[in-house]
Amino acid sequence: MRKLTLILLFTAVTSILLGVTNKHIDNKIVSKYEDADSDKITIVFAGDLMVHQLQLDAAHNKKTNSYDFNPCFSIIKPYIQSADLAIANLETTFSGKPYTGYPYFSSPETFLETTIKSGFDIFQIANNHIADKGSEGIKQTVKLLSAKTTFVGSYIDKQQRDSLYPLIVEKKGLKMALLNCTYGTENPKESYQPCVVNLIDTVQIHQDVITARKRGAKFVIMTIHWGDEYTLAANEEQKMLARYFTHIGINLIIGSHPHTVQDFEIISLPDSSKVPVFYSLGNFISNQRKENSNGGILAYVTINTKNNRILNCSYLPTYVHREYLQGKYQYYILPIPEYLKHKTTYNIGATADSLLHIFYRNTTSKLSNISIHN
Ligand SMILES: [Zn+2]
Repeated sequence: MRKLTLILLFTAVTSILLGVTNKHIDNKIVSKYEDADSDKITIVFAGDLMVHQLQLDAAHNKKTNSYDFNPCFSIIKPYIQSADLAIANLETTFSGKPYTGYPYFSSPETFLETTIKSGFDIFQIANNHIADKGSEGIKQTVKLLSAKTTFVGSYIDKQQRDSLYPLIVEKKGLKMALLNCTYGTENPKESYQPCVVNLIDTVQIHQDVITARKRGAKFVIMTIHWGDEYTLAANEEQKMLARYFTHIGINLIIGSHPHTVQDFEIISLPDSSKVPVFYSLGNFISNQRKENSNGGILAYVTINTKNNRILNCSYLPTYVHREYLQGKYQYYILPIPEYLKHKTTYNIGATADSLLHIFYRNTTSKLSNISIHN
């Protein structure tokens, strides 16, 4: 009986999913067509992408000894694909077997392949877990990312950093620079040299911004791993750093690491431009189940490509639903506004519904100064 209910649930979720997917793919085609000469681009940013042991177990197929992460992203992916560019904090390594969760992460390559297929274009890898498996782990991770996608923040050596960093991305004629750094790593620097992990070094960051401008960047984005874990507001250091970044010409600041969503702020500059700061986007996917850590936000930023100014910022609250299916857990990232519209179809159960509502209430009340993405 339970099994049947679960199968029905899965079918229902899948059919909703198909509806959502088609709708968004259509929108994307229309908007790309209309935007052929468009003067704006939209970037979406996701918070922490983590793979804990229970997620490994959930993805594992014993018969084929393979790992399938598709269910996690199946419902959320239209919201990633609808943007012109999608960027995420990849908080694991691809260091090969044995695959491990916390505290020293190594994930199957299929996790990366699925996130790319779901729409992500660029991965930030300056975070406290990138050196979990030492220099070999960084090398293998960078090698895989180089082959399959674009990355920023950690490098196999200084020479590679010098040639690839700051990351310059051009979209619809707008040349942007992406910066990425972390407060530190779990393992000390000596354990991963000669690899380089960008650290929060204000002198170096200033130099990087100058380099980015010299290389033609008209818009500079800082993605930064900072703050205190499990806290709901930015600390003084984050606020001071954000102000410093605006003084050296950074145009947008996106934070990660606390595993909770933190406040959003707009810093106004004397030239009337504004620098939005998302202090922390929370968890995009993880096994963390505590209140405020069982979800996150996708941050959407639209930029006018003619004058390089930000037109709009919004966010989509997302919840990581964990369902017990056929003897193990399964994970789905739910776009909360979509869930609320089709609640009965998703049918996630009363307990999960109540946890989702707590996350939604806490997040929306904290982010009352910015609108929800639709
Ligand atoms: Zn972290």
